[in-house]
Amino acid sequence: MMPKNRRNQWKQLLQTSETMGYESSVAFSRKDALPGMQKRILTLLFIVSVGVACSPAGSDPTNGASEAELYGNTQPHLYLSGQFDPYSHVGFTTLEKAGIPASRKGMVLRKETTEALKKMLFRFKKDHPNIRFWVQSATRPFNSQKGIWEAKWNGQRKVSGMDLRTIKDPLKRARMILEYSSMPGTSRHHWGTDFDINSLNPAYYRSGTGKIIYEWMLANAPDFGFCLVYTEGRDGGYQWEPWHWSYRPLSAPMLRDWNRLYDANKIRTNFSGSDAAFHLAPEYVNTIGAACK
Ligand SMILES: [Zn+2]
Repeated sequence: MMPKNRRNQWKQLLQTSETMGYESSVAFSRKDALPGMQKRILTLLFIVSVGVACSPAGSDPTNGASEAELYGNTQPHLYLSGQFDPYSHVGFTTLEKAGIPASRKGMVLRKETTEALKKMLFRFKKDHPNIRFWVQSATRPFNSQKGIWEAKWNGQRKVSGMDLRTIKDPLKRARMILEYSSMPGTSRHHWGTDFDINSLNPAYYRSGTGKIIYEWMLANAPDFGFCLVYTEGRDGGYQWEPWHWSYRPLSAPMLRDWNRLYDANKIRTNFSGSDAAFHLAPEYVNTIGAACK
């Protein structure tokens, strides 16, 4: 991801040149000769604006995607925290409509994600005609993530064989859930860009079919725009998730916006434990593989 201060510098530069541009047009309307100082400012402005316009596009992970292209008519903070209906959002499609094998019917992803995934699966089938590859889990709106989180928080669903109600320290309890599950409002599964494949068991990817799929994905998925989010050997964040892949052309700008909106206090959610744990969100959201930033 582009560092935040770099983005801010960028924004400031643009704002400064806009403001100054306005002032200098006022100066022009006076129809009097420009004093030397103003001339120098205008020359400087010209150089700055040429510099801005000619900066390499590679420094911008959005590839120029506009807010409308990313979120449609949904407000970005609601979209990014999963507080919208992906099943009726115009940017989403069902996996069966896209011809992508899935663990159950009705799962949805962004159309751009399914297009790229279809192309990738075509290549995979060519290389491994006898190996089954499917999407196990796709977009999850806020309420489904809330269901997962609260079932663990309230002990209905065990975490590493434990009933978490026995852990009284809310921060510790949250950290245990956070090994594998995101807090509602902070999951990349809200975005329609991320999905889990075949098995959610790390051991599956250590040998046999799972290993073949994993190694194939590491070598080939980037050609189709996909990156592994929770890589091995990171310092913190969620555990290694060899099953969780992301369509970066959309998810990189979404990650940037999630951070911006979180910092602006716009990503706000309410669930069991949120008071104690929501400040942990940026740490988990941003401790990801370099290829996804
Ligand atoms: Zn996942």
